[in-house]
Amino acid sequence: MRDEAVWYTEANDERTSEAAPRRILLFGGTFDPPHVGHLTMAQIAYEQVGADEVWWMPAAKPPHKAEIDADTFAWRFRMVEALIGSRRHMRVTDVENRLPKPSYTVDTLRALIARYPCVEFLFLLGADSLQHLPEWHGAEELCEMVRFVVARRPGYDFDTAAARARARLPHIRMDVIDMPMLDVSSTWVRDRLDRQLDVCGLVPDPVLAIWRQGPEGGRGWSGGTSSMI
Ligand code: ATP
Repeated sequence: MRDEAVWYTEANDERTSEAAPRRILLFGGTFDPPHVGHLTMAQIAYEQVGADEVWWMPAAKPPHKAEIDADTFAWRFRMVEALIGSRRHMRVTDVENRLPKPSYTVDTLRALIARYPCVEFLFLLGADSLQHLPEWHGAEELCEMVRFVVARRPGYDFDTAAARARARLPHIRMDVIDMPMLDVSSTWVRDRLDRQLDVCGLVPDPVLAIWRQGPEGGRGWSGGTSSMI
């Protein structure tokens, strides 16, 4: 029997009693900080694949980014919450902070599928991530578990990345979303912020406010609103 209260177990949230959705678009990333490129691709992908919800999934300790530490997880989590604002079809999950580190997507999917066996999971990524997908830990198993949804990205050849992924991962299922490419990255945003330059239009003010608090200031997070497993 499905326990519908699991969605927001630690929060007094009105969505707790909603029936569990069937098709979830997972969006993994570092989100250091999250920017409008992330939000746009999540929204367009949500519409185009007919997802019931988008679950943003900040990585606690991504294996491919040595500079990102689980210590900043709460801060990045809060920035994603601020980015999605009141969009009720989007949520943030702390699942990767609850699982062993580093955060391998295949481990996360195993845990989510065990917890939500009736849900179909799709996984959103950019063309740059698709390029590296064949090298991901457990990539073949991951391809059995999710359908990928890919956003093209300036500077990365989607066709080559897709052909390589198909050759190396014969079971891969993949759709590309139809949207204009957005030439924005967290790296570029961080660089501007470090130089005290304006990032208006790229990072909404509520996100910036949390960014400015720094990871220490961002630790006021209770882990509260999005504990999904
Ligand atoms: P960084 O510059 O720090 O590497 P990023 O901007 O790539 O960060 P991530 O949090 O690493 O942001 O990205 C999460 C996911 O979103 C990845 O799959 C990445 O490919 C994708 N992504 C981020 N920005 C874009 C964009 N502008 N267009 C397409 N995909 C994007």
